[in-house]
Amino acid sequence: MDGARLLAQGSLWAATAAPGPECPALEDEVRVDVGIVGGGFTGLSTALHLAERGVRAAVVEAREIGEGASGLNGGQVIPGLKRGREELAARFGSERAERMVALGDGAAERVYDIVGRYGIDCGLERNGWFRAAHSPIAMAYLEKVGKEMAARGIDAALVDRADTMRMLGTDQYLGGLHDRRAGGLQPLAYVRGLARAAMGLGAQVFARSPVERVSRDGALWRIAGARGAIVAPRVLLATGAYTDRLWPGLARTFVGVQSAQMATAPLTDNLRASVLPCRAVVSDTRKLANYFRIDAEGRLVMGGRGPLGDAPSPSTLAAVARAAERRFPMLGRIEWQHAWCGRIEMTLDELPRIHQPEPGLWTLLGYNGRGVALATAMGAVMAERMTGGSDPALDFPETPFATVPLHAFRGPAVAGAIAWYKFRDSLGFAA
Ligand SMILES: Cc1cc2nc3c(=O)[nH]c(=O)nc-3n(C[C@H](O)[C@H](O)[C@H](O)COP(=O)(O)OP(=O)(O)OC[C@H]3O[C@@H](n4cnc5c(N)ncnc54)[C@H](O)[C@@H]3O)c2cc1C
Repeated sequence: MDGARLLAQGSLWAATAAPGPECPALEDEVRVDVGIVGGGFTGLSTALHLAERGVRAAVVEAREIGEGASGLNGGQVIPGLKRGREELAARFGSERAERMVALGDGAAERVYDIVGRYGIDCGLERNGWFRAAHSPIAMAYLEKVGKEMAARGIDAALVDRADTMRMLGTDQYLGGLHDRRAGGLQPLAYVRGLARAAMGLGAQVFARSPVERVSRDGALWRIAGARGAIVAPRVLLATGAYTDRLWPGLARTFVGVQSAQMATAPLTDNLRASVLPCRAVVSDTRKLANYFRIDAEGRLVMGGRGPLGDAPSPSTLAAVARAAERRFPMLGRIEWQHAWCGRIEMTLDELPRIHQPEPGLWTLLGYNGRGVALATAMGAVMAERMTGGSDPALDFPETPFATVPLHAFRGPAVAGAIAWYKFRDSLGFAA
């Protein structure tokens, strides 16, 4: 890794989060109102919102709580959907588009509200999201987005090159857009906190219990593992990018890609004053983006494109390390303390997908790398949907179950897309 050294593989968040609640394995037959597969933000936010309504929910997770993307991500709490109002209006009608945009806009606020109400200790900081422009084309794009945000009364500001340098401590960007609604948190601590909060209200959460079959049992659904089962009239599969063969075709509704991250030790006070002093969470405008932040203890956490397989590869880690060295040469020879990667599910329209392939069985995934806030908000949507509510603030369309065309060729397709995005990034286009 050029001048840098990596001390250990493994996630920063797993090394620093307080232990989660004790969750037993699923060993009996459990009868509830709603059964949920997947112990990440989606499953646990849904369970929490159901429990808040007095609905009996049970979550079952294959591994430990948060061992999927929810405990591995960058912890950037970013509001908003990736697609704009006009495009949503063309697909779903203008009224519904308004509601979807409002739901996305309010997603970070939902996280803050939950963290506050349940006292979740997850190092939450609210210093905004800085989108850093890597080219004049990207800056022009951010100017357009900034104007649209201003027209909607959103607390965001365009930042010129000199102030960007001052706020981020790097001369690598031409300017940016600072969305002050966003924040950063310790994601594993947050997802464990969601589990604890849901359990505190009576939800049952089981871990280390891979679900092997989902089948009908008369009017009920049966979610069965090796030694136990959840039986419920309504079920949600919240298995995200870690979806296996549990439900036919679900893993083919998205393309899975990897993202890798590395973290330093806590920086000295001197370095903290010069490396990302504004402490916003940052991502750049490249399609193959680098994203970075300072965590609550003052570590630099840098992320970027991951390997094609599941384990961090030397070449992708070297690329993440180089990205940090280029932006922050004052760090000198960096000792990286942690390196890890995780899977992200990409949908073709970059929107979360709610499907109901059979009556009473829903699936929800597709945050396209933006699930900390959005999956939390979609959990509220799902709880509303599964209890037959019609609160317009929690409206989000169900779309037909559709698989990605030529999914079998996704490996070469991802490699091809990466080469194409590199080329596009080098021309200056914004993601
Ligand atoms: C490296 C990385 C960086 C990211 N950075 C950010 C960021 O900074 N900001 C942001 O907003 N988003 C980010 N994301 C995206 C975000 O982490 C996800 O969108 C979000 O965590 C999705 O939550 P989820 O609950 O849907 O999925 P997951 O957290 O993946 O949960 C799904 C769970 O289902 C379980 N499961 C699967 N199959 C079964 C089965 N058969 N039986 C039982 N359990 C099963 C899995 O073990 C897993 O724990 C990032 C993602 C990655 C990987």
